[in-house]
Amino acid sequence: MLTLNFVAALLIQGEGPLASAGAPDRPNVVVLMLDTLRPDHLSFFGYSKPTSPFLDSVARESAVFEEARSTTSWTAPACASLFTGHYPPAHGVLEGFFAHRRRSDKAEETSPEVLILNQFPEDMKLLPEYFQAEGYRTYCLATNLNIGPEIGFDRGFDRFVCLDDGTADIVFRELDKWHEEMSSGDQPYFLYLHLMDPHMPYHPREPLYERQEDEIADARSRYDSEILWMDGWLEKIFKRWGWGSETLLVALSDHGEEFGEHGQIGHRHSLHVELNKILLLFRGPGIQPALIPYLGGIHDVLPTLLDMAGLQPPNEGTGVSLGPLLRGSASEEQKLAFRDRAVFAHRAKFRPKTSHLWAANYKSFRMIQDAGVDLFFDLSRDPFEQLNRVSMLPILSQDVRAKLWDFRRQGFGDRSNPVEVELDLDTLSLLDALGYVDSEEDFPPEDLRDDGESPPEEQ
Ligand SMILES: [Zn+2]
Repeated sequence: MLTLNFVAALLIQGEGPLASAGAPDRPNVVVLMLDTLRPDHLSFFGYSKPTSPFLDSVARESAVFEEARSTTSWTAPACASLFTGHYPPAHGVLEGFFAHRRRSDKAEETSPEVLILNQFPEDMKLLPEYFQAEGYRTYCLATNLNIGPEIGFDRGFDRFVCLDDGTADIVFRELDKWHEEMSSGDQPYFLYLHLMDPHMPYHPREPLYERQEDEIADARSRYDSEILWMDGWLEKIFKRWGWGSETLLVALSDHGEEFGEHGQIGHRHSLHVELNKILLLFRGPGIQPALIPYLGGIHDVLPTLLDMAGLQPPNEGTGVSLGPLLRGSASEEQKLAFRDRAVFAHRAKFRPKTSHLWAANYKSFRMIQDAGVDLFFDLSRDPFEQLNRVSMLPILSQDVRAKLWDFRRQGFGDRSNPVEVELDLDTLSLLDALGYVDSEEDFPPEDLRDDGESPPEEQ
């Protein structure tokens, strides 16, 4: 064994051929994005229904973040944070595909609509580009039209497919077309795989779906049945591809979903915890299975994956590597820094008029600022954010408010890269099915980068 190890060490040092694809020192990397998945609807987070037998088994071998947050509550800005390591104001992708129109106006129904989106700044390096630069073969299979070339999500991929619509069985078959190519070759691969099954429209899936009279209860039952159905296909995908402990895996969601906690169904117009909290787990070489009691963010994934793959850290971004926590090697000083860390979120809002929502997550506390109104919650006593404690906890709420204003004072970056996208009728009907049509509002202003609020005087 000693001799074999010695030979292996020589190979790694470059004395021989490159280490083989998927070897522990150059692992294959899989980013599994489960759109709209609420972690508290997974069995291993204590959900009452058996929604996730396969993901449960993955979680047992993973470092799972007890509390993780998105940087927003909808797909495009969240995935842009995943791809850049930046908060939305810095990467500039403030809005995804979203149609604003008055349905009562028949003329507008038949005319194409132009949406102004922001592309990634050209000089901002994206997650797949880091891996591509290190010789990885890079693949993307996505099923949400937000993850398309319009915003620039195709950058850095050797092969890129974004299906307009695709359930997990279709994903299995589409991905299989690359199986021979990806499984051969000398270089490891980086794969971004984006599944949409928990997203609207919720299909009633056997065997978990039980019809409910109440609209919200029925939506929840459909949603849960979709999770279990997707979980079964994930098991098939993982078995087919042999993704085990040798593969560097991150499984996460981009945001959650609301089922009436604050009066709505879906993920629009709010930054409450049911939308801002996400799944975040890592499995692979060097990762110790554990439940991690510190706050992780979606913008941490980029520096963390580079760290765990032994690659150069990013030269910009506000996410941090969670590597010390995943390895179980964090010093007391590092633990203190993670414990004292705040994670922020932003969301453009179009109702009743265009404005901005901001949130701070700090320990068990959350502050949401909505058009000049401050909401303050303590999740340890109020997990569904029903009671505003801003006046009950004046010192604590002021402390978190100050952190949030420090973040807001950084403002929006100046690397805006606007692009016009025409929404044809097919796209509009797809957006409608996904819940991305606002039928009551005027068009939003073209520039979302006007906060409309002034920060308080610094104290
Ligand atoms: Zn999403």
